[in-house]
Amino acid sequence: MDYSIARRRMVAQHIVSRGIHDADLIHVMEEVPRHLFVEEALQSQAYTDYALPIGEKQTISQPYMVAVMTEALQLKRGDRVLEVGTGSGYQAAVLSRLVAHVYSVERIATLARRARRILDKIGSSNVHIQVADGTTGWRDQAPFDGIIVTAGAPQIPQDYLDQLVVGGRLIIPVGDSGQQVLKRVTRVAEQQFDEEEILPCRFVPLIGEHGWSQ
Ligand code: SAH
Repeated sequence: MDYSIARRRMVAQHIVSRGIHDADLIHVMEEVPRHLFVEEALQSQAYTDYALPIGEKQTISQPYMVAVMTEALQLKRGDRVLEVGTGSGYQAAVLSRLVAHVYSVERIATLARRARRILDKIGSSNVHIQVADGTTGWRDQAPFDGIIVTAGAPQIPQDYLDQLVVGGRLIIPVGDSGQQVLKRVTRVAEQQFDEEEILPCRFVPLIGEHGWSQ
């Protein structure tokens, strides 16, 4: 099955027409085969603008949300980015084509393993995956130019702020378990952070030491 036409249509209808402008990002979303990141029975739905189940009560994010979060990161080619919540690996695949290195943390080993397999298959060798509690970031690889959290947090973990370079951006959904606000926090100086609200959203919970308890 050739999904490239469906994919281009999805990007035009749900990404470009809703205000995403970044040409590199648009191009990447036209290329990354989202259907490979979901089970076979759901592949025909991969180019609709919906979150889809990936097992373990987790979801692959809605394409529009992937686009909004990625654009909000304001990436540059040489950047090193931390992703918390590898899930299917789709967001990591999009990032991997825009920056130098993606460090992605997932707490559920089976998901991490499946993501690794697909990312290897499509040649995303600059994605580094670790199975761990990502609420403490990834201390050995810090600092990062960008941090993207793809699960909803009760508050912003201090480690994320500490692990940003000056000028770095953190994109994170913050709120209660039913509804969050997507925020961008920019480290404008060593001890100074700017916070902006981007849009309301709904993610699965960020579970861990500085997130929700099990
Ligand atoms: N970025 C993913 C979306 C995954 S959904 C994609 O493109 O498919 C969110 C993921 O965050 C789930 O896989 C969940 O297991 C993971 N998660 C939740 N809490 C976490 C934590 N503390 N550390 C790492 N991953 C976490």
